[in-house]
Amino acid sequence: MHACQTDAGPRLGCHLSLGRKPEVSIGEARAQGVECIQIFASSPGAWKPPVVRPEESARYLAARLEQGIDPLFIHAIYLINLASTDDMLRARSRASLVATLQAGGTMEASGVVAHIGSHGGRGFVAVRDIVATGLREVLANTEDSVDLVLENSAGAGGILGSTLEELAALLDATGGHPRLKIALDTAHLCGAGWDFSDPATAVRLVSEVQTLIGLDRLVLLHANDSKTPCGSHRDRHAVVGQGHIGREGFQQLLAQPELRRIPWILETPDLDTRLPPEQRFVSIHALRALMDGVESLPARVDVFPQSTAPQGDMPCMDYE
Ligand SMILES: [Zn+2]
Ligand SMILES: [Zn+2]
Repeated sequence: MHACQTDAGPRLGCHLSLGRKPEVSIGEARAQGVECIQIFASSPGAWKPPVVRPEESARYLAARLEQGIDPLFIHAIYLINLASTDDMLRARSRASLVATLQAGGTMEASGVVAHIGSHGGRGFVAVRDIVATGLREVLANTEDSVDLVLENSAGAGGILGSTLEELAALLDATGGHPRLKIALDTAHLCGAGWDFSDPATAVRLVSEVQTLIGLDRLVLLHANDSKTPCGSHRDRHAVVGQGHIGREGFQQLLAQPELRRIPWILETPDLDTRLPPEQRFVSIHALRALMDGVESLPARVDVFPQSTAPQGDMPCMDYE
């Protein structure tokens, strides 16, 4: 396919925060051009499993379908570590994934996105089999409709999945289970050393995904810009066009037909519900402008005063 073809481009979406009425948050997002969403099914910093009441789930699904929002992904909690040496923690991690996949089934989600965990200094090879055992157990104990989607990392502190090779090795070690899929976060790719200021990088990314993982396994892009430079191994998301990937980097990514066929979901600081309305969803508008070939991006806004800037490896949401 050719880059100047007129196909529609990826479905654009965002992570929606918990604790608001689904009709309100979904309607508000749809009005800004959001076509697909990701949510937490439970507070991401707590082990408490998701509780999905059938009537609430039906209401959520109705609101989503009425607005044409599809697909839905659920992001697993951040505490999961399938590589932990602590038997209890490993068991809790597996159980949490099972519960979240079951919640995903009730909510008609396409997949549950999960961070794999950390090898804690032991190296990938030492933990590969124990992670694969966990993945197989989780997949064996959940229904067939929801994929388990492993997310790449920026590689800080032994966090697994910072290279396509590691993700590929985990797919291999689970025997290529048909429900095990991959999500790539562009900010994490940047942190792990993918330099999108080089116009060849997006092409190389697609080619390596094809060779190592298989394009059919790549089901989701987290289209976050990165506040920290290429190779920093840090994970700080930026508004699209205002980070180290930048508009040129996203233009290159948008030019890849293989990436346009999957949903692009944002976890950027402009999604914070505490912001004034004119500062929200600017990343969606920036991507839409790039897709439409519009030259000017929305004016740069200083989204977060320093004191309220979200910290750490969180997609910049309010979690309560
Ligand atoms: Zn994530
Ligand atoms: Zn991130």
